[in-house]
Amino acid sequence: MTSYDNETTLDPRIAGRLKRDSKGLVAAVIQQYDTHEVLMVGYMNDEALRRTLTTGRVTFWSRSRQEYWRKGDTSGHRQYVKGVSLDCDGDALLVEVDQVGAACHTGKRSCFDEGGPLPVTVGHREAADAAADTVIEDGAAGAGHGGEPAHDDGTNDGNDEGRA
Ligand SMILES: [Zn+2]
Repeated sequence: MTSYDNETTLDPRIAGRLKRDSKGLVAAVIQQYDTHEVLMVGYMNDEALRRTLTTGRVTFWSRSRQEYWRKGDTSGHRQYVKGVSLDCDGDALLVEVDQVGAACHTGKRSCFDEGGPLPVTVGHREAADAAADTVIEDGAAGAGHGGEPAHDDGTNDGNDEGRA
């Protein structure tokens, strides 16, 4: 595994892969590492990510307070880092943590428990979908996006034929 130097600034080999928004932030999805429960979404700039990668604790950039926010410092609901992954186009992080207590400031375990489900029309797979299931790249169960467009920013022409 490549060794990175995040001692004082985020390693340029990582920073160079980030696709930040206009405020210099990327979204960070926070997931309980063992149950895979999705707990919350926060935002990180380069320094918040560097701290998250190097200190064992999750640090966000608070958009409302415009300051670094190490989760749990005031609430006690700390997040201990177990792993961090970058998504395919660099605009989102998946942070696997051991969450102490509630992830949501309302006291709910997950922010999505607090917000609750919206009404949806449920979709169902069809027979033709079975073939597309076989093109998942690395074989990691549930982790592939075999049938998804290569980009979600409009660069895909909608034609799946011939893609690797
Ligand atoms: Zn919340």
